[in-house]
Amino acid sequence: MLIWSSVQTSPEEILPSDGYALRFIFAETSHIATSPNILNHPIEYLKGVGPQRADLLKKELAVFSFHDLLHHFPYRHIDRTRITRIVDLNGTSDYALVQGKLWYYEIIGERSARRLVAYLKDDTGVLELVWFKGLTWIEKLLKQDENYLAFGKIGFFMGKPQMAHPELETVKSQTNGVRTSLEPIYPATEKLKSRNLGGRQLGKLTETLLSQLSLRDLPENLPQSVLTNLRLMSRFEAYRNIHFPASQQVYEQALRRLKFEELFITQLRLAMIRSERHRKSRGVVFGRVGEMFNDFYQKCLPFELTGAQKRVLKEIRQDTAGGHQMNRLLQGDVGSGKTIVALMTMLLALDNGYQSCLMAPTEILAQQHFATISELLKDLPVRLAVLTGSTPSREKKKILRQLAAGELDMVIGTHALIEDTVQFSNLGLAVIDEQHRFGVAQRASLWKKAEIPPHILVMTATPIPRTLAMTAYGDLDYSIMDELPPNRQPITTVHRYDTRRAQVMDFIRSEIDAGRQAYIIFPLIEESARLDYENLMAGYENVKAFFPEPRYWISMVHGRQPADQKETNMQRFVSGDTQIMVSTTVIEVGVNVPNATVMVIESAEKFGLSQLHQLRGRVGRGAEKSYCILMTGSQLGNDARERIRIMTSTSNGFEIAEKDLELRGPGEIEGTRQSGTVNFRLADIVKDRPILDAAKKIAETIIENDPELDSADNLRLKEYLVSLQGKTPWSRIS
Ligand code: ADP
Ligand code: MG
Repeated sequence: MLIWSSVQTSPEEILPSDGYALRFIFAETSHIATSPNILNHPIEYLKGVGPQRADLLKKELAVFSFHDLLHHFPYRHIDRTRITRIVDLNGTSDYALVQGKLWYYEIIGERSARRLVAYLKDDTGVLELVWFKGLTWIEKLLKQDENYLAFGKIGFFMGKPQMAHPELETVKSQTNGVRTSLEPIYPATEKLKSRNLGGRQLGKLTETLLSQLSLRDLPENLPQSVLTNLRLMSRFEAYRNIHFPASQQVYEQALRRLKFEELFITQLRLAMIRSERHRKSRGVVFGRVGEMFNDFYQKCLPFELTGAQKRVLKEIRQDTAGGHQMNRLLQGDVGSGKTIVALMTMLLALDNGYQSCLMAPTEILAQQHFATISELLKDLPVRLAVLTGSTPSREKKKILRQLAAGELDMVIGTHALIEDTVQFSNLGLAVIDEQHRFGVAQRASLWKKAEIPPHILVMTATPIPRTLAMTAYGDLDYSIMDELPPNRQPITTVHRYDTRRAQVMDFIRSEIDAGRQAYIIFPLIEESARLDYENLMAGYENVKAFFPEPRYWISMVHGRQPADQKETNMQRFVSGDTQIMVSTTVIEVGVNVPNATVMVIESAEKFGLSQLHQLRGRVGRGAEKSYCILMTGSQLGNDARERIRIMTSTSNGFEIAEKDLELRGPGEIEGTRQSGTVNFRLADIVKDRPILDAAKKIAETIIENDPELDSADNLRLKEYLVSLQGKTPWSRIS
């Protein structure tokens, strides 16, 4: 029984496991009855909805069921629970409810300045009410000397309080118009508003819905001990109070409870997947460190490993020796030396009689890995091949035959490796480099290539902030390489306005004359491939004017080129035939040209932080001092200015990743998997970091002590998780 597979897009949801371990979770609990729940009712069944409104709710808000409406949360509340005295209205009151007698009213002004003005008087002062539209109609409704409640946004005109287009109600009884709870305002679209289904009316529907719900429909799902320790409101109360709280304070408690639940359920599932893998998955055993690994370490390794590299290798060795499948994420900053770690893990597999593969996201990278690794292994009897989309079919056939026959120890390649035709004789390890280009499904197809799933080592191109890693990759084990190899010269990063392009070009010339190479990068703006292309061509012509042939040679690489042309141009730069590489961001990942010392990024304001960091990582790979020059126009927005500031002040990828997350929010960050794991309905992993930390810690403790959730206190949790089984996704977008 695979219980997560059918529910993937709700916020409580995390991905199906990368492994197969989940089959075991709760296998014995399918008897727990899930009572038919009113929340599953289609939205048209709600009183006041009907087929037409239902259609709108589905199309505009993806609200399909009672459940969906319950989870359409208000973005703010307005307070009609208290009447404010006119004398107390001040600059800080936003919306206010005022009660008074209508003193008099009149229409004044001409043409566009024509307006209806009314004066409402209480014991403390006079409030001006004003309408600019619908004057005649409203004028008819007003009655002098009548008692009114006026609700609206308070503005000040010439120092006097004023309410424009207030909502007016006559006061018939003492309580009329004064609410007992705050009034929710919901996100709505223009279309909904025009069909009389705006934020207010949605509130009416929610009110109807809540009146029909009983405790049974929203049973508590958190263990009592957690509720007590964190002083959390009950689930039932929380849903009621997030919509209709008695006060702002109660609202905040409800919000906190539901945010915690969101994060906690996710963390719990991640912890379960990990725990399942650790306890129940089968994995091939890399029990010994043998000749290949040792010979390489002692004779072939051209440098001493960094402390971080050693530590990670140790973690990997422990992980692969225990008989369970390793599923590890290796996070390392650009240039921290992940390739060597990958290679040594592959040698470990070989020492234990297993084949391994290394998968890269692009042809160029696969070829480069192959070249680097072939060179490093040249004195060892390792049988190695490279397989990509452009491998000639005769060669490919041979490789496939050798892999299946066990005549190859390692294969390096691209997506071509996951094709069905690729069969291994005994695959024990798959390394996936620059991970974010690979989907989960693609990865999963790797484990089908062996009877016992191979160990998986995923290496990221760019550091991911810890909070994000915790949610997006929480089911994986996790290693960090936060140390660069010694004697790296720091890269000097500067900001230049593009009015100073000539000086920048002069600088590049001086570097080239000293024997070095330079990258000049142009952005992809994506709205128009044609414009991007033209922009790049113009840039290229411009560079060419500064650097004429035959003294200088330029390579150009861009997305529109056929793969082989890209490859040739890249290769000419790698081999030093050309001194300048003009390109779009296609070179961003992994490419290694140690002799390149200058990175110019044109229109740097158009790049995200992690992308800038990635690009900058292409230089500073050799012994010479390197430079990164961020060129921008003179008009910079605040965010762009901040990004440039960060780039010129730090080269620490982890620090940059945190800033990136702060600036852009979790959904936008590259390297995250399905956004469902990081985009929560209520919680924000940046702002709610303390809640996330608590949720993670508690989830882990619970799973550690009671992995099957069998204790009395945890039974609710188990029932809740089981009840999610087989549900259709909440947020279908039609
Ligand atoms: P990344 O982590 O970005 O993939 P690479 O594996 O490409 O980094 O390594 C970057 C460069 O650092 C390579 O030229 C590699 O040979 C070198 N390198 C890796 N580890 C060390 C080390 N321990 N000492 C010195 N240089 C190293
Ligand atoms: Mg790399």
